[in-house]
Amino acid sequence: MGVYESLGLSPVINATGTVTRLGGAPMPRTVLDAYREAASDWVPLDRLQAAASKMISQLTGAEAGIVTAGAAAGLTLGAAAMIARMDLGKMELLPRTEGMANEFIVAREHRNGYDHAVRAAGARFVEVGFNEITSGAGVRRVEAWEYEAAITERTVGVFYVFLDDSAPPLEEVVAVAHRHDLPVLVDAAGELPPRSNLMMGSVTGADLVAFSGGKAIRGPQSTGILCGRRDLIGSAALQMLDMDDHFELWEPPAALFDEATLRGIPRHGIGRAMKVSKEEIVALMTALALFASGSYDEELAAQRQRLQVIIEKLAATDVVLTLHESANGESSPILDVVVGDGRAATATEVCQKLRGGKPPIYVGHHKLSHGVLVVNPLCMTDAGASCLGERLREELS
Ligand SMILES: *Cc1c(COP(=O)(O)O)cnc(C)c1O
Repeated sequence: MGVYESLGLSPVINATGTVTRLGGAPMPRTVLDAYREAASDWVPLDRLQAAASKMISQLTGAEAGIVTAGAAAGLTLGAAAMIARMDLGKMELLPRTEGMANEFIVAREHRNGYDHAVRAAGARFVEVGFNEITSGAGVRRVEAWEYEAAITERTVGVFYVFLDDSAPPLEEVVAVAHRHDLPVLVDAAGELPPRSNLMMGSVTGADLVAFSGGKAIRGPQSTGILCGRRDLIGSAALQMLDMDDHFELWEPPAALFDEATLRGIPRHGIGRAMKVSKEEIVALMTALALFASGSYDEELAAQRQRLQVIIEKLAATDVVLTLHESANGESSPILDVVVGDGRAATATEVCQKLRGGKPPIYVGHHKLSHGVLVVNPLCMTDAGASCLGERLREELS
């Protein structure tokens, strides 16, 4: 019996990609081997994070970096670092920020459910711009001057959510923020690939950037990377690491800390509730090296073949299929299955039936309102693709 069966669960066919709800990305064997090996020895976690920092810095061009408990924890720690800097008293108080400068300027159109992670540090958002295009009320998106107009003495930073078409361009927001000596925190959790986005912080000047480790990097799903300015990374590390040591015994690793700025050891900080294990750190570093080397590109042909199997199984039906090849040549190809009008079952009903079957199949559900099921081959096996093709034929014939 498998580990999931012994817990009374049946594994599902994941046709949605690296979503957290189903368990994140498929970890390559090399990554799993590294995890297992890391579990058999013990190392001081601050030094392991310092070693990770050196590698992250080589691959991202950032001054420093740490492994966080997902990109979300990276956002909490990034915000905590910008609020507290190296002030141990403030670290102790977070997430309470009464009387401290605690405001982050954010564009209304960048607001999303994940920004709870920034607020969790005690940050308050000051929104700028509107959602005029979505609301049908205008033609313009948020502009850099709006950020500048909102800056006050209570501002500690700017929060920016990076997408291919985010407005205004990150460089413009960084220029405005830096003119006022304010740091910029970027959520780029799902913005890999392309691999070139690893350099986002060093290319745009953004001060801290958070990436997910459990999406395309294919590390443990509970990992992420926070990279950027060394002083801010040092503050983030101090607020995450286990701090139960004596100041005179602790040797702060130079990759992360400037000893001259350390006035003592804080108590456990806000990030202590978001710890990462030695195994997770080692596994993520192994996965990051694989991702950055481009070796995952070799799997794209097999992924395309899985979609081809589904296309062939539906060839005799009148279902409209659209294959999307990624523009960057590094992301998985995606298949849209248009359930459309005039069919007995709606896209939502087909989605529900697939989930309710044996084995349960989960397809991408972000285009249901357009009658479209989205198939991502990254987390599927060949057998899973064949099974999904059969099931779709049954439901849609
Ligand atoms: C996935 C995602 C996150 C959260 O990342 P985790 O690594 O799961 O913590 C945050 N923001 C955005 C935009 C995301 O897509």
